[in-house]
Amino acid sequence: MTTATLDPVRIRREFPTLDQSVNGHPLVYLDNAATSQKPRAVLDALGAYYENDNSNVHRGIHELSRRATVAYEESRAKVASWVGATEPAEIVWTRGTTEAINLVSTAWGLNNVREGDEILISVLEHHSNIIPWQLLAQRTGAVIKYIEIDDQGRWVLEDLSDLLTDRTKVVAISHVSNALGTVNPVKEVAAAAHEVGALVLVDGAQGAVHIKVNVQDLGVDCYAFSGHKMCGPTGIGALWARRDLLDSMEPYQGGGEMIHLVEREMSTWAKVPHKFEAGTPNIAGAIGMGAAIDFLSEVGMDAIARHERDLLAYALERVSAVGGVRIYGPESLEEHSALISFTLGDAHPHDIATILDSEGIAVRAGHHCAQLAMKHFGISATARASIYLYNTEDDIDRLAEGLEQVRSIFA
Ligand code: PLP
Repeated sequence: MTTATLDPVRIRREFPTLDQSVNGHPLVYLDNAATSQKPRAVLDALGAYYENDNSNVHRGIHELSRRATVAYEESRAKVASWVGATEPAEIVWTRGTTEAINLVSTAWGLNNVREGDEILISVLEHHSNIIPWQLLAQRTGAVIKYIEIDDQGRWVLEDLSDLLTDRTKVVAISHVSNALGTVNPVKEVAAAAHEVGALVLVDGAQGAVHIKVNVQDLGVDCYAFSGHKMCGPTGIGALWARRDLLDSMEPYQGGGEMIHLVEREMSTWAKVPHKFEAGTPNIAGAIGMGAAIDFLSEVGMDAIARHERDLLAYALERVSAVGGVRIYGPESLEEHSALISFTLGDAHPHDIATILDSEGIAVRAGHHCAQLAMKHFGISATARASIYLYNTEDDIDRLAEGLEQVRSIFA
């Protein structure tokens, strides 16, 4: 086991956004689950593409287009190895996790799910992994079933064998909850889902960010994730899916780049992954996501995970010591990813976030696009402080001091 550690103070110097004052205070950025900040290496990669190589990919027979295509496809290969794909062709570029899930629910779902079939998701899901399946159910007459959660926000799996039937066509579940931080037992559920022949899609928006993912080891069929939550640009993400699955799927959108031959009445499709990439793609975004992967790899995912674990433990201790705080999510650190979802007495989470913002501390407040999870606890919102590799104990101390201030106002 590697014992490499990271120095967050050195790392944060790589992130220009973090070096500023907000409302007269040095910025403390704890809204990483919404989107992470970008290191200079990513900003430089975006700038270098636009300054030196800007051109369309796969089309031009000229030097700039060749360079852009090489960089774009090299990034695809980096994303492929990031999640343990068998080959780069198993990676489809998308706008992010949301589009990747919609791609599968539409291109695969409409051709494989029929009236009376069942779709299994959990009440912990982000709306991005609920609504596409509700749309599919409305269009096909399929039924949605839910894995429930317990009072620590963990899946209740005792009745899993009842939830999975020979009508279950797809199981769509998150790797890590953005609302409560729960790390879900995806591997166990995937194995059970495969026993009834269901397809397993994982929403990895909060997974591939913090965990070294290997899709072969997880034993899933599709894994969706976003670049902007892992130091990359907005507007880019990826769908990993098994090659044979992608080969068997109909296109998602029609347009340039995704065709082989076009005739008046019908056309044939390009090979995967291009079959799913109609139109000019987000070339700069893809190159930026590759640069983000290089950056994170250099720091080391083991070192990042260890740092986040230590800081989460410290944050849980400091935040729970503030009178009136209630923390939602698993008690065990093993099952809890790098965020704290909490309420504080009668203070509305929006008021908590507003007061913290006046102190230069950025947290998120609201339902976190997880209204079903909020409903389970009988609340409409929480405040959420989410940690990443550049956060420090000082950041957590400032958060705890800010919360003491909130408490004094609402006491
Ligand atoms: N799933 C989870 C668990 C998320 O946290 C998010 C974003 O917050 C999404 C899906 C949607 O990601 P994106 O907006 O990048 O498509």
